[in-house]
Amino acid sequence: MNSDLVIVYHRQPFEEVVVDGETLYQENKSPNGIVPTLKSFFQTVERGSWIAWKHVDRDGDEVDDRRVTMNDRHGEYEVLRVGLTEPQVRSFYHVTSKASLWPVLHSFAPHFDAEAADWETFREVNRRFAEAACEEASDDALIWVHDYNLWLTPHYIRQIKPNAKIAFFHHTPFPSADLFSLLPWRGEIVDSLLACDIVGFHIPRYAENFVQVARSLRDVDVAERVAVEPGLTPRGAALSEPEVTTKLSYGDHTVHLDAWPIGTNPSLIRKVLDEPVAADRAAQIAAELGDQQLIVSVGRVDYTKGTTETLLAYERLLERRPELRGHIKLMVTSVAAATGMTVYEETQEEIEQLVGRIHGRFATLSWGPIMLFTTPVPFEELLSYYRAASMCWITPLRDGLNLVAKEYVAARDDDQPGVLVLSEFTGCSVELPDAVTANPYSHVSLDAAIDTALDMSTAERTHRMARLTLSVDRYDIEHWAEHILGQFQALRRPAGRGQGDPESFSRRGTPQPTLGRRSGGSPRSHAGTPRSPAPPR
Ligand code: UDP
Repeated sequence: MNSDLVIVYHRQPFEEVVVDGETLYQENKSPNGIVPTLKSFFQTVERGSWIAWKHVDRDGDEVDDRRVTMNDRHGEYEVLRVGLTEPQVRSFYHVTSKASLWPVLHSFAPHFDAEAADWETFREVNRRFAEAACEEASDDALIWVHDYNLWLTPHYIRQIKPNAKIAFFHHTPFPSADLFSLLPWRGEIVDSLLACDIVGFHIPRYAENFVQVARSLRDVDVAERVAVEPGLTPRGAALSEPEVTTKLSYGDHTVHLDAWPIGTNPSLIRKVLDEPVAADRAAQIAAELGDQQLIVSVGRVDYTKGTTETLLAYERLLERRPELRGHIKLMVTSVAAATGMTVYEETQEEIEQLVGRIHGRFATLSWGPIMLFTTPVPFEELLSYYRAASMCWITPLRDGLNLVAKEYVAARDDDQPGVLVLSEFTGCSVELPDAVTANPYSHVSLDAAIDTALDMSTAERTHRMARLTLSVDRYDIEHWAEHILGQFQALRRPAGRGQGDPESFSRRGTPQPTLGRRSGGSPRSHAGTPRSPAPPR
Protein backbone atom coordinates (compact mmCIF):
# COMPACT_ATOMS: atom_id res chain seq x y z
CA MET A 1 0.00 0.00 0.00
CA ASN A 2 1.01 3.58 -0.40
CA SER A 3 0.05 5.52 2.65
CA ASP A 4 2.12 8.63 3.31
CA LEU A 5 1.18 8.70 6.96
CA VAL A 6 0.58 5.63 9.11
CA ILE A 7 -0.58 6.15 12.69
CA VAL A 8 0.07 3.22 15.00
CA TYR A 9 -2.06 3.45 18.13
CA HIS A 10 -3.46 0.48 20.01
CA ARG A 11 -7.04 1.84 20.11
CA GLN A 12 -9.30 1.75 17.07
CA PRO A 13 -10.24 5.19 15.73
CA PHE A 14 -13.97 4.44 15.61
CA GLU A 15 -16.78 2.78 17.51
CA GLU A 16 -17.77 -0.66 16.28
CA VAL A 17 -21.45 -1.43 16.81
CA VAL A 18 -23.67 -4.29 15.69
CA VAL A 19 -27.13 -3.27 14.47
CA ASP A 20 -29.54 -6.01 13.32
CA GLY A 21 -26.63 -8.40 12.93
CA GLU A 22 -24.61 -6.00 10.82
CA THR A 23 -21.31 -4.52 12.03
CA LEU A 24 -21.15 -0.76 11.61
CA TYR A 25 -18.09 1.44 12.04
CA GLN A 26 -19.09 4.83 13.38
CA GLU A 27 -17.14 7.93 14.21
CA ASN A 28 -16.50 8.19 17.98
CA LYS A 29 -19.40 9.94 19.67
CA SER A 30 -17.25 12.01 21.98
CA PRO A 31 -15.62 14.89 20.12
CA ASN A 32 -13.12 15.12 22.97
CA GLY A 33 -9.78 13.36 23.28
CA ILE A 34 -6.70 12.64 21.24
CA VAL A 35 -8.23 10.35 18.60
CA PRO A 36 -10.04 13.08 16.59
CA THR A 37 -6.87 15.18 16.66
CA LEU A 38 -4.71 12.35 15.37
CA LYS A 39 -7.21 11.64 12.61
CA SER A 40 -7.07 15.28 11.54
CA PHE A 41 -3.45 14.63 10.42
CA PHE A 42 -4.84 12.47 7.61
CA GLN A 43 -6.06 15.69 6.04
CA THR A 44 -2.45 16.63 5.36
CA VAL A 45 -1.65 13.65 3.13
CA GLU A 46 -2.95 11.93 0.02
CA ARG A 47 -3.47 8.62 1.77
CA GLY A 48 -3.43 7.76 5.44
CA SER A 49 -3.73 4.57 7.50
CA TRP A 50 -4.29 3.68 11.14
CA ILE A 51 -3.11 0.46 12.78
CA ALA A 52 -4.93 -0.88 15.87
CA TRP A 53 -5.67 -4.27 17.42
CA LYS A 54 -8.83 -6.33 17.46
CA HIS A 55 -9.75 -9.50 19.35
CA VAL A 56 -9.62 -12.85 17.56
CA ASP A 57 -10.43 -16.28 19.03
CA ARG A 58 -7.24 -18.12 18.10
CA ASP A 59 -3.70 -17.03 17.37
CA GLY A 60 -3.26 -16.69 13.62
CA ASP A 61 -6.97 -16.12 12.97
CA GLU A 62 -7.67 -13.35 10.52
CA VAL A 63 -9.77 -10.45 11.90
CA ASP A 64 -13.19 -10.17 10.24
CA ASP A 65 -12.98 -6.99 8.21
CA ARG A 66 -9.24 -6.82 8.76
CA ARG A 67 -9.17 -3.67 6.66
CA VAL A 68 -11.84 -0.99 7.07
CA THR A 69 -11.99 2.06 4.83
CA MET A 70 -13.40 4.86 6.94
CA ASN A 71 -14.88 8.03 5.62
CA ASP A 72 -15.77 10.49 8.33
CA ARG A 73 -15.39 14.21 8.84
CA HIS A 74 -11.62 13.73 8.64
CA GLY A 75 -11.90 12.37 5.12
CA GLU A 76 -11.08 8.87 3.94
CA TYR A 77 -8.47 6.68 5.63
CA GLU A 78 -7.67 3.01 6.00
CA VAL A 79 -7.79 1.11 9.28
CA LEU A 80 -5.85 -2.14 9.49
CA ARG A 81 -6.50 -4.36 12.51
CA VAL A 82 -3.92 -6.65 14.08
CA GLY A 83 -5.69 -9.75 15.41
CA LEU A 84 -4.77 -10.54 19.03
CA THR A 85 -6.19 -13.27 21.25
CA GLU A 86 -7.50 -12.59 24.74
CA PRO A 87 -4.33 -14.06 26.38
CA GLN A 88 -2.11 -12.00 24.07
CA VAL A 89 -3.92 -8.78 25.01
CA ARG A 90 -3.80 -9.67 28.69
CA SER A 91 -0.08 -10.44 28.49
CA PHE A 92 1.01 -7.52 26.30
CA TYR A 93 -1.27 -4.84 27.66
CA HIS A 94 -2.54 -5.69 31.13
CA VAL A 95 0.51 -7.47 32.45
CA THR A 96 3.72 -6.36 30.73
CA SER A 97 2.62 -2.83 29.92
CA LYS A 98 0.57 -2.07 33.01
CA ALA A 99 2.31 -4.15 35.71
CA SER A 100 5.91 -3.75 34.59
CA LEU A 101 6.32 -0.66 32.43
CA TRP A 102 3.63 1.67 33.84
CA PRO A 103 4.97 1.73 37.45
CA VAL A 104 8.48 2.52 36.22
CA LEU A 105 7.24 5.26 33.87
CA HIS A 106 5.42 6.83 36.82
CA SER A 107 8.32 6.42 39.27
CA PHE A 108 6.49 3.84 41.39
CA ALA A 109 9.32 1.37 41.93
CA PRO A 110 7.51 -0.72 44.60
CA HIS A 111 4.74 -1.59 42.12
CA PHE A 112 7.23 -2.77 39.48
CA ASP A 113 6.92 -6.49 38.78
CA ALA A 114 9.68 -7.73 36.47
CA GLU A 115 8.77 -11.38 36.91
CA ALA A 116 5.17 -10.87 35.76
CA ALA A 117 6.31 -9.48 32.42
CA ASP A 118 6.15 -11.68 29.35
CA TRP A 119 8.71 -9.95 27.18
CA GLU A 120 8.48 -12.49 24.36
CA THR A 121 4.79 -11.76 23.82
CA PHE A 122 5.47 -8.02 24.12
CA ARG A 123 8.08 -8.31 21.37
CA GLU A 124 5.80 -10.44 19.22
CA VAL A 125 2.84 -8.02 19.50
CA ASN A 126 5.09 -5.02 18.78
CA ARG A 127 6.48 -6.84 15.73
CA ARG A 128 2.97 -7.53 14.45
CA PHE A 129 2.06 -3.84 14.73
CA ALA A 130 5.26 -2.97 12.83
CA GLU A 131 4.46 -5.46 10.07
CA ALA A 132 0.95 -4.08 9.67
CA ALA A 133 2.32 -0.51 9.57
CA CYS A 134 4.85 -1.47 6.90
CA GLU A 135 2.15 -3.22 4.89
CA GLU A 136 0.36 0.13 4.68
CA ALA A 137 3.31 2.50 4.35
CA SER A 138 4.95 3.75 1.18
CA ASP A 139 8.75 3.32 1.24
CA ASP A 140 9.39 6.80 2.56
CA ALA A 141 6.19 7.21 4.56
CA LEU A 142 6.04 8.78 7.96
CA ILE A 143 5.04 6.15 10.51
CA TRP A 144 3.90 7.68 13.79
CA VAL A 145 3.90 5.23 16.70
CA HIS A 146 2.10 6.05 19.95
CA ASP A 147 2.97 5.19 23.49
CA TYR A 148 5.11 2.91 25.57
CA ASN A 149 3.14 -0.27 24.90
CA LEU A 150 4.55 -0.05 21.36
CA TRP A 151 8.10 0.85 22.42
CA LEU A 152 9.67 -1.89 20.30
CA THR A 153 7.63 -1.23 17.16
CA PRO A 154 10.10 1.34 15.70
CA HIS A 155 12.89 -1.25 15.85
CA TYR A 156 10.90 -3.72 13.72
CA ILE A 157 9.72 -1.01 11.32
CA ARG A 158 13.31 0.10 10.73
CA GLN A 159 14.27 -3.48 9.82
CA ILE A 160 11.50 -3.73 7.22
CA LYS A 161 11.52 -0.18 5.85
CA PRO A 162 14.95 1.38 6.29
CA ASN A 163 13.92 4.64 4.58
CA ALA A 164 10.70 5.27 6.45
CA LYS A 165 10.53 8.30 8.69
CA ILE A 166 9.58 7.09 12.15
CA ALA A 167 8.05 9.31 14.81
CA PHE A 168 7.18 8.24 18.34
CA PHE A 169 5.07 10.05 20.93
CA HIS A 170 5.00 9.29 24.67
CA HIS A 171 1.64 10.00 26.31
CA THR A 172 3.12 9.23 29.74
CA PRO A 173 5.97 10.65 31.78
CA PHE A 174 9.47 9.44 30.94
CA PRO A 175 11.31 8.63 34.19
CA SER A 176 14.80 9.47 35.37
CA ALA A 177 17.69 7.18 34.41
CA ASP A 178 17.76 5.72 37.94
CA LEU A 179 14.16 4.57 37.61
CA PHE A 180 14.33 3.54 33.95
CA SER A 181 17.32 1.34 34.74
CA LEU A 182 15.01 -0.95 36.72
CA LEU A 183 13.78 -2.31 33.40
CA PRO A 184 15.82 -5.38 32.45
CA TRP A 185 14.96 -4.65 28.79
CA ARG A 186 16.23 -1.07 28.92
CA GLY A 187 18.84 -1.47 26.15
CA GLU A 188 16.33 -2.95 23.72
CA ILE A 189 13.82 -0.18 24.41
CA VAL A 190 16.38 2.59 23.99
CA ASP A 191 17.72 1.05 20.76
CA SER A 192 14.20 1.06 19.35
CA LEU A 193 13.64 4.71 20.32
CA LEU A 194 17.03 5.65 18.84
CA ALA A 195 15.91 4.05 15.56
CA CYS A 196 13.25 6.81 15.32
CA ASP A 197 13.71 10.10 13.49
CA ILE A 198 11.76 11.98 16.10
CA VAL A 199 10.81 11.09 19.64
CA GLY A 200 8.14 13.21 21.32
CA PHE A 201 7.28 13.92 24.96
CA HIS A 202 4.85 16.21 26.74
CA ILE A 203 7.39 18.37 28.56
CA PRO A 204 11.13 19.13 28.48
CA ARG A 205 11.85 17.22 31.74
CA TYR A 206 10.76 13.95 30.13
CA ALA A 207 12.94 14.62 27.07
CA GLU A 208 15.90 15.36 29.32
CA ASN A 209 15.28 12.17 31.28
CA PHE A 210 15.38 10.26 27.99
CA VAL A 211 18.67 11.96 27.05
CA GLN A 212 20.21 10.83 30.35
CA VAL A 213 18.97 7.29 29.77
CA ALA A 214 20.22 7.17 26.17
CA ARG A 215 23.62 8.60 27.10
CA SER A 216 24.07 6.17 29.96
CA LEU A 217 23.37 3.20 27.71
CA ARG A 218 24.70 4.10 24.26
CA ASP A 219 27.34 6.23 22.60
CA VAL A 220 24.98 9.12 21.98
CA ASP A 221 25.92 12.81 21.73
CA VAL A 222 23.80 15.86 22.33
CA ALA A 223 23.83 17.68 18.97
CA GLU A 224 21.50 20.57 19.81
CA ARG A 225 20.07 22.12 22.95
CA VAL A 226 17.81 25.14 23.10
CA ALA A 227 16.23 27.32 25.77
CA VAL A 228 12.72 26.21 26.66
CA GLU A 229 10.10 28.83 25.79
CA PRO A 230 9.07 31.02 28.71
CA GLY A 231 5.49 29.66 28.82
CA LEU A 232 6.87 26.24 29.81
CA THR A 233 9.57 27.16 32.31
CA PRO A 234 8.15 28.41 35.60
CA ARG A 235 11.03 29.01 37.98
CA GLY A 236 11.20 26.67 40.94
CA ALA A 237 8.58 24.20 39.69
CA ALA A 238 9.25 20.53 40.38
CA LEU A 239 9.23 19.59 36.67
CA SER A 240 10.79 22.75 35.25
CA GLU A 241 13.76 22.58 32.83
CA PRO A 242 15.37 25.75 31.47
CA GLU A 243 16.89 24.03 28.42
CA VAL A 244 15.95 21.05 26.34
CA THR A 245 17.82 18.79 23.95
CA THR A 246 16.33 18.84 20.46
CA LYS A 247 18.83 16.64 18.59
CA LEU A 248 20.87 13.59 19.48
CA SER A 249 23.44 12.08 17.19
CA TYR A 250 23.97 8.37 17.27
CA GLY A 251 26.52 7.17 14.73
CA ASP A 252 25.43 8.78 11.48
CA HIS A 253 21.80 8.98 12.57
CA THR A 254 20.14 12.09 14.01
CA VAL A 255 17.28 11.64 16.44
CA HIS A 256 15.16 14.75 16.87
CA LEU A 257 13.57 15.21 20.28
CA ASP A 258 10.45 17.21 20.79
CA ALA A 259 8.74 18.27 24.01
CA TRP A 260 5.35 19.85 23.50
CA PRO A 261 2.32 19.33 25.77
CA ILE A 262 -0.93 18.07 24.30
CA GLY A 263 -3.69 20.59 24.80
CA THR A 264 -7.39 20.46 25.29
CA ASN A 265 -9.95 22.01 22.99
CA PRO A 266 -11.15 25.20 24.76
CA SER A 267 -13.30 26.42 21.88
CA LEU A 268 -15.15 23.10 21.72
CA ILE A 269 -15.63 23.16 25.51
CA ARG A 270 -17.02 26.71 25.44
CA LYS A 271 -19.22 25.87 22.47
CA VAL A 272 -20.72 22.85 24.28
CA LEU A 273 -21.25 24.90 27.44
CA ASP A 274 -22.97 27.67 25.48
CA GLU A 275 -25.54 25.22 24.14
CA PRO A 276 -28.83 25.16 26.06
CA VAL A 277 -28.55 21.51 27.20
CA ALA A 278 -25.22 22.00 28.99
CA ALA A 279 -26.07 25.50 30.21
CA ASP A 280 -29.37 24.22 31.67
CA ARG A 281 -27.63 21.26 33.27
CA ALA A 282 -24.98 23.52 34.86
CA ALA A 283 -27.76 25.78 36.17
CA GLN A 284 -29.64 22.77 37.52
CA ILE A 285 -26.52 21.50 39.31
CA ALA A 286 -25.93 24.98 40.77
CA ALA A 287 -29.55 25.15 41.96
CA GLU A 288 -29.32 21.73 43.60
CA LEU A 289 -26.11 22.74 45.35
CA GLY A 290 -27.71 25.83 46.84
CA ASP A 291 -25.07 27.56 48.97
CA GLN A 292 -22.70 24.57 48.94
CA GLN A 293 -19.39 24.98 47.14
CA LEU A 294 -18.68 22.17 44.68
CA ILE A 295 -15.15 20.80 44.36
CA VAL A 296 -14.47 18.49 41.39
CA SER A 297 -11.74 15.87 41.29
CA VAL A 298 -11.90 13.80 38.12
CA GLY A 299 -9.76 10.87 37.04
CA ARG A 300 -9.38 7.17 36.29
CA VAL A 301 -8.77 4.56 38.98
CA ASP A 302 -5.03 4.43 39.20
CA TYR A 303 -2.64 4.53 42.14
CA THR A 304 -0.72 7.25 40.23
CA LYS A 305 -3.75 9.58 40.23
CA GLY A 306 -3.62 10.39 43.94
CA THR A 307 -7.37 9.94 44.56
CA THR A 308 -6.67 8.40 47.97
CA GLU A 309 -4.51 11.40 48.89
CA THR A 310 -7.30 13.75 47.76
CA LEU A 311 -9.87 11.94 49.89
CA LEU A 312 -7.60 11.92 52.93
CA ALA A 313 -6.97 15.65 52.47
CA TYR A 314 -10.73 16.22 52.28
CA GLU A 315 -11.27 14.22 55.46
CA ARG A 316 -8.60 16.29 57.21
CA LEU A 317 -10.26 19.46 55.91
CA LEU A 318 -13.63 18.49 57.41
CA GLU A 319 -11.86 17.73 60.71
CA ARG A 320 -9.75 20.89 60.68
CA ARG A 321 -12.48 23.29 59.60
CA PRO A 322 -15.81 22.00 60.95
CA GLU A 323 -17.58 25.20 59.87
CA LEU A 324 -17.31 23.92 56.28
CA ARG A 325 -19.46 20.87 57.00
CA GLY A 326 -22.75 21.19 55.18
CA HIS A 327 -21.32 23.91 52.92
CA ILE A 328 -19.00 22.02 50.58
CA LYS A 329 -19.28 18.90 48.46
CA LEU A 330 -16.55 16.91 46.75
CA MET A 331 -17.40 15.24 43.46
CA VAL A 332 -14.92 12.44 42.74
CA THR A 333 -14.88 10.33 39.62
CA SER A 334 -12.87 7.20 39.97
CA VAL A 335 -13.65 5.41 36.76
CA ALA A 336 -12.63 1.77 36.82
CA ALA A 337 -10.54 0.62 33.90
CA ALA A 338 -11.99 -2.71 32.74
CA THR A 339 -8.73 -4.59 33.11
CA GLY A 340 -9.41 -7.03 35.91
CA MET A 341 -6.01 -6.07 37.36
CA THR A 342 -5.61 -6.67 41.07
CA VAL A 343 -3.67 -3.47 41.68
CA TYR A 344 -6.49 -1.34 40.24
CA GLU A 345 -9.13 -3.35 42.06
CA GLU A 346 -7.27 -2.71 45.31
CA THR A 347 -7.06 1.02 44.57
CA GLN A 348 -10.77 1.12 43.74
CA GLU A 349 -11.61 -0.72 46.95
CA GLU A 350 -9.48 1.67 48.97
CA ILE A 351 -11.25 4.67 47.39
CA GLU A 352 -14.70 3.24 48.01
CA GLN A 353 -13.83 2.42 51.62
CA LEU A 354 -12.50 5.92 52.23
CA VAL A 355 -15.60 7.50 50.71
CA GLY A 356 -17.71 5.27 52.97
CA ARG A 357 -15.65 6.27 56.01
CA ILE A 358 -15.93 9.99 55.29
CA HIS A 359 -19.67 9.65 54.74
CA GLY A 360 -20.00 7.64 57.93
CA ARG A 361 -18.13 10.30 59.90
CA PHE A 362 -19.65 13.47 58.51
CA ALA A 363 -22.90 12.94 56.56
CA THR A 364 -26.14 14.26 57.99
CA LEU A 365 -29.74 13.69 57.00
CA SER A 366 -29.64 16.68 54.67
CA TRP A 367 -25.97 16.71 53.57
CA GLY A 368 -23.58 14.24 51.96
CA PRO A 369 -19.95 15.33 51.85
CA ILE A 370 -18.97 13.35 48.71
CA MET A 371 -20.45 12.22 45.41
CA LEU A 372 -18.48 9.30 43.96
CA PHE A 373 -18.91 8.28 40.32
CA THR A 374 -17.42 4.91 39.42
CA THR A 375 -18.71 4.82 35.86
CA PRO A 376 -17.63 7.37 33.26
CA VAL A 377 -19.46 10.67 33.28
CA PRO A 378 -20.23 11.69 29.68
CA PHE A 379 -18.01 14.56 28.55
CA GLU A 380 -20.87 17.06 28.13
CA GLU A 381 -22.18 16.27 31.63
CA LEU A 382 -18.67 16.56 33.04
CA LEU A 383 -18.37 20.04 31.55
CA SER A 384 -21.55 21.11 33.37
CA TYR A 385 -20.02 19.94 36.66
CA TYR A 386 -16.79 21.83 35.89
CA ARG A 387 -18.84 24.96 35.22
CA ALA A 388 -20.72 24.62 38.52
CA ALA A 389 -17.62 23.90 40.60
CA SER A 390 -15.78 26.67 42.42
CA MET A 391 -12.69 24.48 42.80
CA CYS A 392 -10.92 21.63 41.04
CA TRP A 393 -8.41 19.43 42.85
CA ILE A 394 -5.99 17.56 40.62
CA THR A 395 -3.46 15.90 42.88
CA PRO A 396 -1.80 12.94 41.12
CA LEU A 397 1.40 11.56 42.57
CA ARG A 398 2.59 11.43 38.96
CA ASP A 399 0.79 12.17 35.70
CA GLY A 400 2.18 12.54 32.17
CA LEU A 401 0.10 15.64 31.52
CA ASN A 402 -3.51 15.73 32.93
CA LEU A 403 -6.13 17.09 30.60
CA VAL A 404 -8.82 17.46 33.25
CA ALA A 405 -6.96 20.43 34.78
CA LYS A 406 -6.96 22.20 31.42
CA GLU A 407 -10.61 21.30 30.74
CA TYR A 408 -11.63 22.80 34.09
CA VAL A 409 -9.88 26.07 33.23
CA ALA A 410 -11.46 26.14 29.76
CA ALA A 411 -14.91 25.57 31.26
CA ARG A 412 -14.81 28.63 33.57
CA ASP A 413 -16.99 31.56 32.88
CA ASP A 414 -15.80 35.06 33.64
CA ASP A 415 -18.35 35.63 36.40
CA GLN A 416 -17.27 32.56 38.35
CA PRO A 417 -13.50 32.27 38.38
CA GLY A 418 -12.71 28.96 40.01
CA VAL A 419 -9.49 27.85 41.66
CA LEU A 420 -7.33 25.00 40.46
CA VAL A 421 -5.31 23.06 43.04
CA LEU A 422 -2.68 21.16 41.06
CA SER A 423 -0.02 18.61 41.91
CA GLU A 424 3.51 19.68 41.02
CA PHE A 425 4.02 16.22 39.53
CA THR A 426 1.56 16.56 36.65
CA GLY A 427 3.11 17.45 33.29
CA CYS A 428 0.69 20.35 32.84
CA SER A 429 1.97 22.02 36.03
CA VAL A 430 4.80 23.60 33.99
CA GLU A 431 2.18 25.34 31.83
CA LEU A 432 -0.07 26.31 34.72
CA PRO A 433 2.00 27.95 37.47
CA ASP A 434 -0.98 30.17 38.35
CA ALA A 435 -2.73 27.16 39.81
CA VAL A 436 -2.28 26.66 43.55
CA THR A 437 0.43 24.04 43.31
CA ALA A 438 0.85 21.31 45.89
CA ASN A 439 3.10 18.40 46.71
CA PRO A 440 0.65 15.51 47.16
CA TYR A 441 3.27 13.52 49.11
CA SER A 442 3.08 16.11 51.90
CA HIS A 443 -0.03 16.58 54.05
CA VAL A 444 1.25 19.99 55.08
CA SER A 445 1.64 21.10 51.45
CA LEU A 446 -1.71 19.69 50.32
CA ASP A 447 -3.61 21.14 53.30
CA ALA A 448 -1.98 24.54 52.83
CA ALA A 449 -2.86 24.57 49.10
CA ILE A 450 -6.47 23.66 49.86
CA ASP A 451 -6.72 26.39 52.51
CA THR A 452 -5.17 28.92 50.12
CA ALA A 453 -7.71 27.98 47.46
CA LEU A 454 -10.67 28.13 49.84
CA ASP A 455 -9.69 31.46 51.33
CA MET A 456 -8.62 33.15 48.07
CA SER A 457 -10.21 36.53 47.36
CA THR A 458 -12.36 36.94 44.26
CA ALA A 459 -9.84 39.41 42.86
CA GLU A 460 -7.02 36.90 43.11
CA ARG A 461 -9.16 34.07 41.71
CA THR A 462 -10.02 36.28 38.75
CA HIS A 463 -6.39 37.26 38.17
CA ARG A 464 -5.06 33.70 38.38
CA MET A 465 -7.84 32.25 36.25
CA ALA A 466 -7.26 34.85 33.54
CA ARG A 467 -3.61 33.79 33.33
CA LEU A 468 -4.47 30.10 33.42
CA THR A 469 -6.95 30.68 30.60
CA LEU A 470 -4.30 32.41 28.50
CA SER A 471 -2.03 29.42 28.89
CA VAL A 472 -4.73 26.80 28.21
CA ASP A 473 -5.82 28.72 25.12
CA ARG A 474 -2.28 29.07 23.90
CA TYR A 475 -1.25 25.44 24.38
CA ASP A 476 -4.48 24.07 22.99
CA ILE A 477 -4.89 20.94 20.90
CA GLU A 478 -4.75 22.90 17.67
CA HIS A 479 -1.42 24.42 18.67
CA TRP A 480 -0.08 20.97 19.50
CA ALA A 481 -1.18 19.60 16.12
CA GLU A 482 0.34 22.56 14.28
CA HIS A 483 3.57 22.20 16.21
CA ILE A 484 3.83 18.48 15.46
CA LEU A 485 2.99 19.06 11.82
CA GLY A 486 5.82 21.61 11.68
CA GLN A 487 8.18 18.97 13.08
CA PHE A 488 7.04 16.47 10.45
CA GLN A 489 7.48 19.02 7.69
CA ALA A 490 11.03 19.68 8.90
CA LEU A 491 11.79 15.95 8.71
CA ARG A 492 10.63 15.92 5.11
CA ARG A 493 12.76 18.94 4.19
CA PRO A 494 15.92 18.02 2.30
CA ALA A 495 19.08 18.68 4.32
CA GLY A 496 20.26 22.28 4.07
CA ARG A 497 16.86 23.84 3.49
CA GLY A 498 15.93 26.46 6.03
CA GLN A 499 13.14 26.44 8.55
CA GLY A 500 11.31 29.07 6.55
CA ASP A 501 10.71 26.81 3.55
CA PRO A 502 7.00 26.18 3.22
CA GLU A 503 7.70 22.56 2.33
CA SER A 504 4.56 20.56 2.82
CA PHE A 505 4.32 17.31 4.67
CA SER A 506 1.96 16.38 1.86
CA ARG A 507 3.67 14.59 -1.00
CA ARG A 508 1.51 16.51 -3.44
CA GLY A 509 3.84 19.46 -2.86
CA THR A 510 1.09 21.92 -2.03
CA PRO A 511 2.32 24.28 0.66
CA GLN A 512 0.42 23.51 3.86
CA PRO A 513 1.97 25.40 6.72
CA THR A 514 -0.91 24.45 8.99
CA LEU A 515 -3.22 21.49 9.13
CA GLY A 516 -5.06 21.99 5.86
CA ARG A 517 -7.82 20.05 4.21
CA ARG A 518 -7.01 18.17 1.06
CA SER A 519 -9.25 20.38 -0.98
CA GLY A 520 -9.49 23.72 0.75
CA GLY A 521 -11.69 24.59 3.69
CA SER A 522 -10.88 24.61 7.34
CA PRO A 523 -9.05 21.56 8.64
CA ARG A 524 -10.05 22.05 12.22
CA SER A 525 -12.61 19.91 13.81
CA HIS A 526 -13.61 22.75 16.08
CA ALA A 527 -14.31 26.44 15.84
CA GLY A 528 -11.04 28.36 16.03
CA THR A 529 -10.57 31.27 18.39
CA PRO A 530 -7.64 33.64 18.02
CA ARG A 531 -4.71 32.27 19.99
CA SER A 532 -3.75 34.33 22.99
CA PRO A 533 -0.14 35.23 23.73
CA ALA A 534 1.57 33.26 26.50
CA PRO A 535 1.20 34.98 29.84
CA PRO A 536 4.43 36.75 30.81
CA ARG A 537 6.20 35.02 33.65
N1 UDP B 1 -13.22 11.82 31.40
C1 UDP B 1 -14.56 11.70 31.04
N2 UDP B 1 -15.45 11.18 31.96
C2 UDP B 1 -15.07 10.77 33.21
C3 UDP B 1 -13.70 10.90 33.57
C4 UDP B 1 -12.81 11.42 32.64
O1 UDP B 1 -14.96 12.08 29.91
O2 UDP B 1 -15.91 10.30 33.99
C5 UDP B 1 -12.27 12.36 30.40
C6 UDP B 1 -11.76 13.73 30.82
O3 UDP B 1 -12.65 14.73 30.40
C7 UDP B 1 -10.40 13.78 30.13
C8 UDP B 1 -9.97 12.32 30.07
O4 UDP B 1 -11.12 11.54 30.36
O5 UDP B 1 -10.53 14.28 28.81
C9 UDP B 1 -8.87 11.98 31.05
O6 UDP B 1 -7.68 12.55 30.58
P1 UDP B 1 -6.46 12.88 31.55
O7 UDP B 1 -5.34 13.40 30.72
O8 UDP B 1 -6.88 13.82 32.65
O9 UDP B 1 -6.10 11.50 32.24
P2 UDP B 1 -5.71 10.07 31.62
O10 UDP B 1 -6.89 9.20 31.91
O11 UDP B 1 -5.44 10.24 30.16
O12 UDP B 1 -4.52 9.66 32.42
